Amino acid sequence: MHEADLLRSFGIDPAVLDPAPPWTPCGSAAIERLRGRFPCLGCDAPSTVADTVTAAGLGRRWVDLCMPCLIAATPRSGAQAPLEDTLGVLRDAAREVGVALTVVTDGA
Ligand SMILES: [Zn+2]
Repeated sequence: MHEADLLRSFGIDPAVLDPAPPWTPCGSAAIERLRGRFPCLGCDAPSTVADTVTAAGLGRRWVDLCMPCLIAATPRSGAQAPLEDTLGVLRDAAREVGVALTVVTDGA
């Protein structure tokens, strides 16, 4: 996810984020950050991810998130297979394991 999109998805002004140090090998600064038990920017739960963004004019800033908020903010894009291809995979899998499969669609 583009950093600006990440911040926008949480409605966060990068100016309010804590300054982060320069990149460190093996993420040692991030590990240390996690020990601080900072609240998730999305929901205030204890963060489990210490990421950074580089904000124009502000430099690197910490982005503390919990895993559910990180997953919620992660775009699920990419090439999608046509529905018939997906259904074909499901039918093949059901046939292979001997399970009856009925696909119900809304006609859309
Ligand atoms: Zn959260």
